[in-house]
Amino acid sequence: MTDVTVKQFAAFVGIPINRLLEQFAEAGIMVADADGTVTEKQKVDLLAHLRKTHGSQLGQATAEPKRITLKRKTHSEIKMAGSMAGQVKTVSVEVRKKRTYVKRSLVEDETPRASEPQVPVIEPMPVTRITAEVLEDRQPAEMAEATKPERDPSPVDHVSAPEETEAEVRGHEELGAEAHRHEENEAEARRREEAEAETRRREEAEARRRAEQDSRRKVMERPVPARVPETISASASGLGPTVSGHDVKRRSDASEAGSAAARAKRPPGSAPDTKVGKKRPEPSARPAVKARTDGAVVDLFPRRDDAPQDDRFPAPRRGDLQQVLDKADRRKPKKGKGGKPSLPMTASRHGFAKPTAPVMREVIIPETISVADLAQKMSVKATEVIKVFLKMGLMVTINQVIDQDTAALAVSEMGHSYKILNENALEEELTADTSRGESLPRPPVVTIMGHVDHGKTSLLDYIRRTRVAAGEAGGITQHIGAYHVRTAKGVITFLDTPGHAAFTAMRARGAKATDVVVLVVAADDGVMPQTLEAIQHARAAGVPLVVAVNKMDKSSADPERVKSELSVQGVISEEWGGDTLFSYVSAKAGTGVDQLLEQILVQAEVLELQAPVEGSAKGVVIESRLDKGRGPVATVLIQSGTLRKGDVILSGLEYGRVRAMLNEAGQNTNEAGPSIPVEVLGLSGAPRAGDEVIVVADERKAREIALFRQNKLREEQAKKPAISLDDISKQFEAGQVNVLNVVMKADVQGSAEAIVDALTRLSTDEVQVKIIASGVGGINESDVNLARNAKAIVIGFNVRADSVAKKLAEEEGLKLHYYSVIYELIDHVKRAMVGMLKPEFKEEIIGLAEVRGVFRSPKFGVVAGCMVVDGVVRRNNPIRVLRNHVVIFEGALDSLRRFKDDIAEVRAGMECGMGVRNYNDVREGDHIEVFERVQVERTL
Ligand code: GDP
Repeated sequence: MTDVTVKQFAAFVGIPINRLLEQFAEAGIMVADADGTVTEKQKVDLLAHLRKTHGSQLGQATAEPKRITLKRKTHSEIKMAGSMAGQVKTVSVEVRKKRTYVKRSLVEDETPRASEPQVPVIEPMPVTRITAEVLEDRQPAEMAEATKPERDPSPVDHVSAPEETEAEVRGHEELGAEAHRHEENEAEARRREEAEAETRRREEAEARRRAEQDSRRKVMERPVPARVPETISASASGLGPTVSGHDVKRRSDASEAGSAAARAKRPPGSAPDTKVGKKRPEPSARPAVKARTDGAVVDLFPRRDDAPQDDRFPAPRRGDLQQVLDKADRRKPKKGKGGKPSLPMTASRHGFAKPTAPVMREVIIPETISVADLAQKMSVKATEVIKVFLKMGLMVTINQVIDQDTAALAVSEMGHSYKILNENALEEELTADTSRGESLPRPPVVTIMGHVDHGKTSLLDYIRRTRVAAGEAGGITQHIGAYHVRTAKGVITFLDTPGHAAFTAMRARGAKATDVVVLVVAADDGVMPQTLEAIQHARAAGVPLVVAVNKMDKSSADPERVKSELSVQGVISEEWGGDTLFSYVSAKAGTGVDQLLEQILVQAEVLELQAPVEGSAKGVVIESRLDKGRGPVATVLIQSGTLRKGDVILSGLEYGRVRAMLNEAGQNTNEAGPSIPVEVLGLSGAPRAGDEVIVVADERKAREIALFRQNKLREEQAKKPAISLDDISKQFEAGQVNVLNVVMKADVQGSAEAIVDALTRLSTDEVQVKIIASGVGGINESDVNLARNAKAIVIGFNVRADSVAKKLAEEEGLKLHYYSVIYELIDHVKRAMVGMLKPEFKEEIIGLAEVRGVFRSPKFGVVAGCMVVDGVVRRNNPIRVLRNHVVIFEGALDSLRRFKDDIAEVRAGMECGMGVRNYNDVREGDHIEVFERVQVERTL
């Protein structure tokens, strides 16, 4: 730059010429005047002077800010499971970081400031918010910044700036900016210097940080010394594995400054305050801190707020968690105190360990299982199981009961193993125990069958009267459902329940009690429907027949006719070269009965009936009832072995110890062998006819099986559709049922008999009334069960159902019908039966027309011109064409017209044109008859 005039220089610098001249004068630089030249040297001198003079005024307002304050604030929320299940607590955490960098030279000047009372960085927070001051999770670059002051020996070169100093800093910054404008060059030089220094510092800091990390790693590897209490609070404040005293230094300086006073007071060894406000007790006051024998210090009851769940924070140390869990285990069994056992903070520590491998379960599958139960057994949701079934192509509902095999498929599909539960194992074990001992011949068991009124009852009564009762018990015989007679040639047991129902019912339960069927056919009546039925039943059961042609005393008796009718059915008498024994008897007169008994024995001989007499008894229930005085009474026909008083028996759903045994004469007996019927007292309930009876060694086992069977039955019943009278009527309508089964209970024997009689007489060829059970007394559970099994209606005459029966009936959807007037009862049943009859139709001729002429029309074909001579002709009714009063065609009308109009009907005396559908041969003189079908009300 060449020399310039003062004027030019003033313009360049931007100040008035006079002011410049003054400055030159003050600086002692001689310049002539405004137009005088200023040399380069003079300019530099002036600048030096000005700097000197201004320096005294603005010396502190250097070109750069003295302090720089950096603030950072982060918010986060922690969700923690509370100590109580289901309680979730949300804690919001605000982390404030504030760092102020001050120029070192300035700090030296302002040393006294550092001791000024500091405003805590953390402001008081609402109780629900916890402010935790934490050391920053620094990025490496930031780390260098943060650790920078540590190398400086000065304890205060890195201070926390209180709020009020910030304004001051701002002021300085403005001042500094002003100074910039004046002394740019100088500032630039200083900045460079500063930048160089900064770089150096960073390098040093980085080296230092590395060294520090190394040392920390080494410390980490060593067990934590018990005497370093900082560890606790450091880890408690969520800093993770900070274990050495160095870490205290790493804490925010703000915190350091803020707690300076507190630290001074603190007794040596106690942890520095981690500043979580009032909520936190002094660490020294916390009893939970415990020194382990190995020297490690753990916090047994870490505060929940100590363990932020933020991802940025390291997880708690394993040792801590294990210790807490161990402790929890030890204190768990606190019985009798009520309330939940206090689970220490494990919840906040996520004590649950997610299983890494799928859990394999062994699922025990009973014979049937509901989908919900199956899901529960596999510890999965029912929907999961349903999904599996869907995949298998099975639509199931949650409550659906599925069978064992299907369940097993689903279980293996879901990756579990299964075990089939054989619930019948116990029973099988019991039944496998067959009677030992030598088999000896046994008496035949006979059932008498035949058509109604052919004399079955009479025959049985006659035999019993003459063979059993005579003289044995003073003429008093008990009707126990079976009796045995002694003849010269052997013993015969008669089942005293004539009719096919009992026979088939027993067979339906798998009991084969009968060895020989005596088919009673009235000599004066011959083979009747039930005779045929009896033959079929006997054949189906594989039981040989012995025919008793009854009522031989009657003059109308025609045994030859019976013989021939039976031969048609394949029952051929020996006399005719067949293999069936025939005897001719009169139940009334008693003739031929001996011969009949003989023939039964002959037949039995052929069968070679044998059974072991020794060993535990097995038998079948012939009949059972609830006796008012004696409780459940069952007539048991022993089939093998010997039943003794005191034996424990199991029969169907019932069990019990044989308290007493009575024979058919009403006498007490102590034992009963094969084919001998006895009344057994002592059962828990009345078993059903046809139920098997077995002797069990253990009463407890008997009870178990009985209960198991009861449950099973209940389950099965639950699966079966319920029956009501309406359903039965519907079934009748649909032609599915032609037998109306009735279970009837009445107040007195007389009524019961009368009703049974009346109802039985209602039977017709189309609908039969079958009394499944009748008796005296209230309707009980067994009646309802019986009705349900037989799809019968339950009738109570002047009696009601007991509560158990009522409940069961409700469950089964079975309606109980109560009556107190017999004819009402009969009427109701009759109406029910009528409703069950097939509808009957009657034809009614409603009109007649005479064909007077036949026309052919291209549109309608053959049209008969008619005169309605009687009644009315309707277009839509069926017709018949008559020629000489003989029906030659039956069909319908195609058209009915009068004067070219289509009409619906034509009355007598009028003419009309009729087109017959599909018939073209109507001739003059024919008659067309119109009729309708009417449903006729049916009666029995
Ligand atoms: P069930 O219906 O087959 O049991 O026949 P019952 O034993 O009730 O007899 C029906 C009717 O036939 C009764 O009135 C008996 O008196 C009569 N009855 C039975 N057996 C004979 C017999 O041998 N001779 C005569 N005359 N009547 C008999």
